[in-house]
Amino acid sequence: MNNYSIFQKIIKKEISANILYQDKIVTVFDDIKPKAPIHILIIPNNLIKTANDINKKNKDIIAHMFYIAVQTAKEKKISQDGYKIIINCNKHGGQEINYLHMHLLGGAKLKTLY
Ligand code: 5GP
Repeated sequence: MNNYSIFQKIIKKEISANILYQDKIVTVFDDIKPKAPIHILIIPNNLIKTANDINKKNKDIIAHMFYIAVQTAKEKKISQDGYKIIINCNKHGGQEINYLHMHLLGGAKLKTLY
């Protein structure tokens, strides 16, 4: 299913989203159906479909995504209380949109899976 075009359109501002930050490498925006008081998505501007597609050539993009996720947590003032950064991969991981994204979740005590 090629639903990754949704995120490509958000990057190009062809469909609306509350974009919080954008640079040459990543775009950061509010999740449309928040599962926590703060639920933000961090995505690379160039398509990487899943975590399985991280490789030697693009791995620095992931480091930048992580850095921007933490900066965003600080800006949203949730870093002291804490937050989760989650990447879902494929069917068993619960990935619905086939475009690699980090979920930044916080603003309340969140359930753990384990
Ligand atoms: P996944 O389950 O693939 O890890 O997460 C996909 C996330 O994208 C979900 O939390 C969902 O709410 C969010 N999402 C899906 N479509 C849109 C959209 O059109 N706009 C925004 N802002 N978020 C979306």
